[in-house]
Amino acid sequence: MYKEEYIEKAEAALLHTYNRYPVVLDRGDGVYLFDTDGKKYLDFGAGIAVFALGYHYKGLDEAVKNQVDKLIHTSNLFYSVPAMDAAEKLKEASGMDRVFFTNSGTEAIEGAIKLARKYAWMKDGGHDHEIIAMRHSFHGRSMGALSVTGNDHYQEPFKPMIGGVKFADFNDLDSVKALVSDKTCAVIMETLQGEGGIYPAEREFVQGLRTLCDENDILLILDEIQCGMGRTGKMFCFQHYGIKPDIMTVAKALGCGMPVGAFLCTDKAASMGPGDHGTTYGGNPLVCAAAAKVLDIFQEDGIVQHAGTMGQILYEKLEEVKNESPLVTAHRGMGLMQGLEVTCPPSVIITKALEKGLILLSAGTNVIRFVPPLIITEEHINAMAEILKQCLAECEKEAV
Ligand SMILES: *Cc1c(COP(=O)(O)O)cnc(C)c1O
Repeated sequence: MYKEEYIEKAEAALLHTYNRYPVVLDRGDGVYLFDTDGKKYLDFGAGIAVFALGYHYKGLDEAVKNQVDKLIHTSNLFYSVPAMDAAEKLKEASGMDRVFFTNSGTEAIEGAIKLARKYAWMKDGGHDHEIIAMRHSFHGRSMGALSVTGNDHYQEPFKPMIGGVKFADFNDLDSVKALVSDKTCAVIMETLQGEGGIYPAEREFVQGLRTLCDENDILLILDEIQCGMGRTGKMFCFQHYGIKPDIMTVAKALGCGMPVGAFLCTDKAASMGPGDHGTTYGGNPLVCAAAAKVLDIFQEDGIVQHAGTMGQILYEKLEEVKNESPLVTAHRGMGLMQGLEVTCPPSVIITKALEKGLILLSAGTNVIRFVPPLIITEEHINAMAEILKQCLAECEKEAV
């Protein structure tokens, strides 16, 4: 079949909720992807920050295949060794006390919201508790996760949202303080805002929030779904700030392609008990075998340290790009999660890059996002920057 035929069939069968790029991806190898025509792409998107270890990392496929041969699913009515294994490793990596595995990031957010509401309900039996979320945030598309996502455009057709959510400005502690009341049960935010445009949290903001939450017995929920799992040069982004959340969500790179997420909490925030929450597939042996192996590889092969080192190199390269191109107006990020703000539509640059064999993502309305596999090397970063500079130069010419 020709590419056009694949695309036509897909568009005829799938609900059109994505404007996809006209590329049919077929296989991956390291930090490269290949489409059905055999064209090779350097991957700086990693399946939206999922493939931290790139494609076919040594040992990971084998761990998944072994589990396929043993047992894929058990239901959560029984114990399984992979879930125990993955939970222990995740606890150790995060310093949190308890883990609930989910099928996605969105579902992890739902669980986090329920933990916070039940925590407050156990104190006063009320049904009017409030959550403070951030503008320009992204936490997912289900009704609960969408309700704490600070994006009117995403919410508008689906109102009413769940009640009791108020929005503050990211990195503005006073705007959070102004919303705190005796009804507030949680503050939820991404430690480094991703979809909204790559905005890192400031040190004073995170530490101030921690103090504010402690003083008012409010639970601090940090969404590490995109910025966690080594991406910023620490295993979890909050570890840069010398604080710990009460609840944390993780997904994307946790299974490196196997669909698994989790919400984690401290013993203090572990409000839910038998009957309060559940999932049929969540944390099944197959995805947990992948997560456990990913966590092993991270530790044994120094993936997080490597991400930190490469993050610095990427930072310097992108500074160079910014200084050379008048179309680039800002540069933000941490580790291997960075963004360039541009004055032309990001999709124009992304389309040009695709033609030249480079996969990039956008974030917000005017940001090009860089979230490569964490195993990227300096050569890959240089190769990416060369293509990016060409794309920007072309855009500049076309704009004149
Ligand atoms: C991707 C993302 C989600 C949603 O995760 P899904 O697996 O797509 O449900 C939530 N929060 C953040 C910060 C994300 O980047």
